[in-house]
Amino acid sequence: MPELPEVETVRRGLQPVMEGAVVARAEQRRADLRFPFPKDFAGQLEGRKIVALDRRAKYLLADLDNGMVLISHLGMSGSFRIEPDGDAPLSPGVFHHERSKDDKHDHVVFHMDGPAGRARVVYNDPRRFGYMDLMARAELADHPWFRSLGVEPTGNSLQADELARRLAGKAAPLKAALLDQRIIAGLGNIYVCEALWRARLSPRKPAGRLVTRAGQPRKALERLTGDIREVISEAIAAGGSSLRDHIQTDGTMGYFQHGFSVYDREGKACPRPGCGDTVRRIVQSGRSTFMCARCQRD
Ligand SMILES: [Zn+2]
Repeated sequence: MPELPEVETVRRGLQPVMEGAVVARAEQRRADLRFPFPKDFAGQLEGRKIVALDRRAKYLLADLDNGMVLISHLGMSGSFRIEPDGDAPLSPGVFHHERSKDDKHDHVVFHMDGPAGRARVVYNDPRRFGYMDLMARAELADHPWFRSLGVEPTGNSLQADELARRLAGKAAPLKAALLDQRIIAGLGNIYVCEALWRARLSPRKPAGRLVTRAGQPRKALERLTGDIREVISEAIAAGGSSLRDHIQTDGTMGYFQHGFSVYDREGKACPRPGCGDTVRRIVQSGRSTFMCARCQRD
């Protein structure tokens, strides 16, 4: 499943051909993905200019010139690829996201015409857990998909004071609290495991223990906040370089398997110098947590 850094990488890859470009034609090849497409989906897009390509959590948001927003979620297996149209030159940021090349899973094609030339932006999704919708920008904040989303884990939007407010009094394990989209939006399993390892915090520790009685962040929470921002920004930076160099690691773009310290490394040595313990996998709420029991104590 694509995590936030991958979605951000996709956004940056699509930006040069979508932002400032007109949807000359849209092809919708089936009635639904995970959810039905909105009425007259293609008709509502055709002739509209995309004024900005944004992201909120794992949603891609293409703002149209009429105040509507094209919302797109990749689900489990969704991917976009860009095919230059005709003789148009490859523009910077063009990439091929080779998760599935089988064109029977190409469900939506946007024919873009813009400053970078003409290109087809193709949405492919074998399992069809992804979805697209159109809604007014003004209604976005109140929509069920968005209204309860927590803070972004990127850059300065994530602050220890704000996290303290959200974690105060919570008995839930840290792992579960950090995966809760109402607390932090778009932080998935991989990066929660990585950030907890970096911050030397046990995933089983009750989340509220990182907050003082007065509601202030403890030192550990300040450290964790920095580590979350760091793992996310490093992953986005690695995604950016994979875009520039057209590197494809095992078919997925924006995933940086070699960079993980604990995720999916069960039985391997903990990479912290001098630790000497091995990474273990535990199961919390039905999901795997990878951790080092020596570095990450309760
Ligand atoms: Zn360790």
